[in-house]
Amino acid sequence: MSSIFTKIIEREIPSDIVHETENIIVIRDIAPKAKTHVLIIPKKEVRTVDDFGKEDASLISEMIFTAQEVATKLGVSGAYQLQFNVWEKWGQEVPHVHLHLLSQYN
Ligand code: 5GP
Repeated sequence: MSSIFTKIIEREIPSDIVHETENIIVIRDIAPKAKTHVLIIPKKEVRTVDDFGKEDASLISEMIFTAQEVATKLGVSGAYQLQFNVWEKWGQEVPHVHLHLLSQYN
């Protein structure tokens, strides 16, 4: 079953897209926990970090390089936090893997 992020990727529901490539979309979080709070989402449907396989190595590195690029684009380079919530027990609400990028200060 498609997650809300797949619906966003497929433009079935709107979002504030700040960056997009063939493999990744970056959107502003709907309930930001910092002045800058975006989500780096692979278009491939992977449920959580534990479901990444070796075949996803380049996708994972692309997520990190995208974080660097987006941090620069949004003016928070040098002071930001990256966070994966892994499984519901640690607060993962959306079952489609995503990397939070938050500015360090509000
Ligand atoms: P998680 O808790 O799964 O690590 O993070 C999911 C994030 O997605 C939350 O910070 C939540 O605010 C955000 N979110 C949930 N639904 C939507 C949505 O429809 N649009 C956007 N832009 N963000 C969403």
